[in-house]
Amino acid sequence: MPAADLSPPAATAAGVLRVAVDCPLRSLLDYLPPAGVRALDLPAGARVRVPMGGRSAVGVIVAHADGSLLAPQRLRRIGALLDPEPLFDAALLELLRWTASYYQHPPGEVYAAALPTALRAGQAATAQESWLVLTDAGRAAHAAGEPKRAPRQRALAALLAAHSEGLAAAQLYAAQPDWRSSARALAKRGWTELQLRDAPPVAAMSAADTTAGGASAIGAAAAAIDVIPDLSAAQTAAVAAVDACAGRFGSFLLQGATGSGKTEVYLRLVLRTLERGAGALVLVPEIGLTPQLLERFRSRLRVPIAVLHSALSDGERLQAWRAVRAGAARVVIGTRSAIFAPVQRLGLIVVDEEHDSSYKQQEGGCRYSARDLAVLRAQQSGLPVLLGSATPALESLHNVQLGRYRQLLLPRRADQAAAPRIALIDLRAHAVHAGLATPVTQAIARHLGSDGQVLVYLNRRGYAPTLLCTSCGWIAPCTECDARLTVHRGAAQLRCHYCGAAQPLPTRCGRCGFEVRPVGQGTERIAETLAAMFPTAPLARLDRDTVHSAADMEAVMHSLLDGSARILVGTQMVTKGHHFPGVSLVAVINADQGLFSADFRAAERLAQTIVQVAGRAGRGTRAGEVLIQTEYPEHPLLQNLINNGYEGFAAGALAEREAARWPPFARLALLRASGRSATTALDFLREARECATAAPPARLLGPVPASMARRAGRHHAQLLIETSGRGELHRFLEQWLPLIERLPAARRVRWALDVDPLDLQ
Ligand SMILES: [Zn+2]
Ligand SMILES: [Zn+2]
Repeated sequence: MPAADLSPPAATAAGVLRVAVDCPLRSLLDYLPPAGVRALDLPAGARVRVPMGGRSAVGVIVAHADGSLLAPQRLRRIGALLDPEPLFDAALLELLRWTASYYQHPPGEVYAAALPTALRAGQAATAQESWLVLTDAGRAAHAAGEPKRAPRQRALAALLAAHSEGLAAAQLYAAQPDWRSSARALAKRGWTELQLRDAPPVAAMSAADTTAGGASAIGAAAAAIDVIPDLSAAQTAAVAAVDACAGRFGSFLLQGATGSGKTEVYLRLVLRTLERGAGALVLVPEIGLTPQLLERFRSRLRVPIAVLHSALSDGERLQAWRAVRAGAARVVIGTRSAIFAPVQRLGLIVVDEEHDSSYKQQEGGCRYSARDLAVLRAQQSGLPVLLGSATPALESLHNVQLGRYRQLLLPRRADQAAAPRIALIDLRAHAVHAGLATPVTQAIARHLGSDGQVLVYLNRRGYAPTLLCTSCGWIAPCTECDARLTVHRGAAQLRCHYCGAAQPLPTRCGRCGFEVRPVGQGTERIAETLAAMFPTAPLARLDRDTVHSAADMEAVMHSLLDGSARILVGTQMVTKGHHFPGVSLVAVINADQGLFSADFRAAERLAQTIVQVAGRAGRGTRAGEVLIQTEYPEHPLLQNLINNGYEGFAAGALAEREAARWPPFARLALLRASGRSATTALDFLREARECATAAPPARLLGPVPASMARRAGRHHAQLLIETSGRGELHRFLEQWLPLIERLPAARRVRWALDVDPLDLQ
């Protein structure tokens, strides 16, 4: 597109439309309305087809203007209006405008990301169905008894003649299953015509339900009503506090350990919202592997629920989106991108496990935080938002301190296990066999002997992280990354966990031909060791190599629930909202990975993981036991966490952040770049840094190579920007980015800006 010039705006009588087109430009594009139409007759929030270079593109009308900075002869006309009604209401338009502006992302890509793929391509926004009608010629032919030699065609014509409005495909199928071939023959004669009409919301509603992949809404409604648990005093108070905020903005942080009943609080509040005739949006970190939450919502709410997550096909996503927009599904449960769902009369937003990093888009596209946008959407629309977690993000706890969020605490219930006893196991002070210290092995034997179940946590999948030559010291490397290859023994492969490359597992050194051996522990190897040590205790594994679907997850869950597995070895996946009521011992194999990281958030992530894993321990009302293996038992983070719990850890960590001026006491943005060589990436960032002198003040750190600098053959580097507040950061980026975009070096790299980055590696 031509660049804007600085001549005064060209006023046009019909007005100008500002359109967000899915392209990498950082501005909206100006268009004239179609000839003979006034701009104001085209509603903001509707899609239009526009000429763009030599092609046609789909865009969203964002605003109206009297004139444009473009010269009149360069203004082109909109081709066609695709939606008679806006797809986005004023509140959603404002949320998207804010998102593009705050995250400094091309607006066209932000608006496009809020729509299912099919709608980006221009498909109808309302569900459509085929209807067959008799034409005038067909009516006359039918009256004359035609076609005489084709009884099935004649029968179809008779059916249509009896329905002047025509018949929908589903009705035709019910009456005459092979209607399509007859209809084709009649159409050839010009006697029938196929028409696309908007489907009634009921059709969309059932569509929403098939996307969920579970029982239909009607089925769920007819099913037996679940036992509805009584609320504890704390749960009652939490529900009342949020409920009292209905119809106006308020943000709440619901904090309670695993099993303290957060989900029940969400359910009650969604029910209250539905009773008021409003809709609710529930964000969850992932759905594919946590079917229980969805089932609980289904059976208790007894209304159609639209489920939106990344594993849906384009068609499923479109159906679910249409059901939400038509108001047929008033409750949406979804992952990150569901924050943009067009819920009708939205009255409540819930963000479950609000600390989870999956709410932040980390790679590709606009790097927004759905948790932060949830609070913003609630504020803009005037409704309550409830963030829930056992281990809230430090940012959220800070917002409680500032009085921005109201904290609602759920203490342990009387029928719930007491807090687990946590102990550190010093790896330097004990004999260690195959990654397991003697006190841990003894504890496992003790718990298995007294009918308990054991959860062994290790955040490293595969058999061993390293394949080493015992003669020359060669370590199997990835040729595309600065990474070692992980041994996967069952699959007999070496795999790179960064780029996905795989090769057969060698038995001899790639350099000297001597024997090689796997070094270190992965879940596959720990499982093998435990199986050899405790041959009578059946074992299950829970990691991305063994569990790929909800069905796999269910199988693992069931094996623990019915006791056919006694030991569970798993990665981070064990912390994703699953409750294992039989587990009495949790062993954390290696807590040290997060202790000395260059990333200031590593400590927070480690504390959250330990607390989340520890939360899986405890049988009935008996306290569980948690053992954490470490080489640094005196480390202040671990000591603080053990002695003062997550609250104590958080207070200490926030004080450290304040002293070091890290978020939430400062604002960060990260400019990342990758190139074919380390030099191209670093050169671009150096030039970008030099441009910063022309922008308002900000502290710049770097550029430095990323911690894993070479990934999949590309070299990654980054430049960190720090300011004291959000406003300063925004003003800096506003002026700095246009300068960066014009750098010739920018064309030799891939670069992206990450505002409020979660991962600084
Ligand atoms: Zn060797
Ligand atoms: Zn690799």
